[in-house]
Formats: sequence, structure tokens, C-alpha cells
Amino acid sequence: MGVKVETVGHFGGGQAGIFVLYTGGTIGMVEGPDGALVPLDLAGLLKYVPTARELPVGLTVATFDEAIDSATIGVADWLEIADAIVSHSQGHDGVVVLHGTDTMAYTASALSFLLEGIDIPIVLTGAQRPITSVRSDGRENLVTALEVASAKLTGAPLVPEVTIFFNDVLLRGNRAVKVHASSYRGFASPNLAPLATAGVSLDFATELLRTPEPGPIRRAGGMCTDVAAILLHPALDETALVSTLSRKGLRGVVLQAYGAGNGPSEPWFLRELERASDNGITVVVTTQCLAGAVRPGLYASGAALLSSGAISGGDMTFEAALTKLMFALDRHQDPTDVRRLMQQDLRGELTP
Ligand code: ASP
Repeated sequence: MGVKVETVGHFGGGQAGIFVLYTGGTIGMVEGPDGALVPLDLAGLLKYVPTARELPVGLTVATFDEAIDSATIGVADWLEIADAIVSHSQGHDGVVVLHGTDTMAYTASALSFLLEGIDIPIVLTGAQRPITSVRSDGRENLVTALEVASAKLTGAPLVPEVTIFFNDVLLRGNRAVKVHASSYRGFASPNLAPLATAGVSLDFATELLRTPEPGPIRRAGGMCTDVAAILLHPALDETALVSTLSRKGLRGVVLQAYGAGNGPSEPWFLRELERASDNGITVVVTTQCLAGAVRPGLYASGAALLSSGAISGGDMTFEAALTKLMFALDRHQDPTDVRRLMQQDLRGELTP
């Protein structure tokens, strides 16, 4: 996987300037000789969006030296994207990141924690169907993402945060989830209304928009990979739980619990979680439900889980909880500090 970033051109003649970073994904794929989709380079991709060059914005475009399928993404790529934004976005009015849909919600969440001083829009978008195909959703997604990235209100950027634009909605990045494997309505943010809806006009929900942070954009930290996820299901047994919790070096776990944060009340389950917390592992409880929140104490089974030392992830998505935990573990060694940070709303990812 190549992660070298190079500026490959400047198009358009408008006043506003958008930094476009192409990382890969279906949007830029074309059918290879054996019929499977393989990534195009950026120049190849832009050929299919002539309107992008006609927008009243200047585009500075950059690309990973090798476009990737986002299913292969990892922490090194997130840092590369974050660093590319830090070093190339200065002097621009906004950023658009072209990214595969599979892990777009993870990357958007990760960037929202990894970057601070966000004073311009950072909009991720992609497509369910390659831009080379006649019925691609990629052209509309890209052109509207560019519009969002350059949108201003009385001279100030309208949406100065990490977002996902997809189909007809602009979503807070760390609230978004991929909800469909093939529909053009591929993303939703079930616990927060869209920040904007695109129809004939682009209508912004101004009451939800964040104010710009004092720039310039910079890296706020790194990401610790000593984490695991545990999905509760009725066949989960002690052996499986212990094998995950006893992983060498493990420092954090996101536990996807049932409903309002409930889980089994068998002694082995609570004992192992308590042991993990006592050993300094931060256990964050989220809900498997698409919408809603962990509500500590609503049921005895949920209260028992939290009394084992686990903490509530509130209404965070799994993607936000995991990437925030990775960020918190990189920043702090002391589990008390990690747990405190996890329960704070850092970037609009958590309803306090
Ligand atoms: N596998 C592709 C990716 O995430 C899927 C997509 O972009 O829609 O890169």
C-alpha cells in the first residue's frame, strides 16, 4: 500500500480553493481485465467529472501514490491522511477527501479526533458505483462535497468540522455509519439529524453546526492499536471472552452490548470484565442498536455491567467509540485519564 502524497495539479479559476485528497475506493475504480474493480489514478478519475473543473473554485489535488480499497485501511493511512491535510490545507477554504465507503465512517471519526484547530470544512465522500460508470453516484457526491467545502456564511466557513457527504445528506463524520452495502443512500447518522440536506438547494441545519476552532489545523495526537471489540451474542462463552481479554498488551475494549447497554448476568462474565478493568483495561460499553444510547441503570443487567468497572459510551457509534478509545489510549497512560476523556464530548460525537 502506497501512502506518499504528492500535489498533482491546480484546476479552476475561482477565488475559493479546495484541497482534494484522493485515497481510493469505488469512486475511482474501473473494471480490470478479469472483471474485478481496480483503482484508477486521480487524473483518470477527474476526466469523468468535467463539471468539477467548471465550478467557481480552484482545486489543488493530491493523491496517495497508490489508490487503496478502504477495506485495507489502517492507522498508518489515517495518520497519512491527517498529515496531508495538515501540510496541504493551509491557504485553502476547505478539504475534500475521496475515500472508499467501507471504512469511511471509521476514517471520518478518526480524523475528527486526530485533528485539532479545524477552522475549515473537511468533507469525506465516495461512491457506491465507479465514476467511470454511466449511472455513478460519484459525480453528484463529489460536486456537492466541493460545494459544501466552499460554503460560507458572511465570509466564514459554514461547516468547519469533519463530515461525510453522501447521496443527499451531509453528516457529522463521527456520528455517521454505513447503513447499506449497495444503495446510493449508503450512510446515516441515526443519533443526530443531518447537518445539511441536498435537494434543489443545499439546506443547512444551522443550529447543529459547530463554530470554527482557532487554526491552523494540526495533529492532536496518534492512535493506539492495543484495542479489541467484543460483540455480545447469546453464544458468547467464557473461553471466547477470556481469549480476547487476555490478549497481551490489551489496553482498551469496546463492548457492543444489547439494547440500552445490557449483557449477561452470569458470574463468569462480570468477573472477567471486572478483572479486565482492575488490570487497567478501559472497557467502553456501546449499544448494538443502530440508534439510541446506553442508559446506565435502566435494567439490572446493564447496571451490573457498569458496576464491573466498564464505562458507558452513551450514544456514540461503534466507529466513534473505537477511534476515540485509540486516540485516548495514545494520549494517556493512566486508565483514569483514558476513562475521563472517553466520557467527555470532544468533537460532537457524544450527547452529554
Ligand atoms: N471496497 C470499497 C472501498 O471501501 C467500497 C467502496 O468504496 O464503496 O474502498
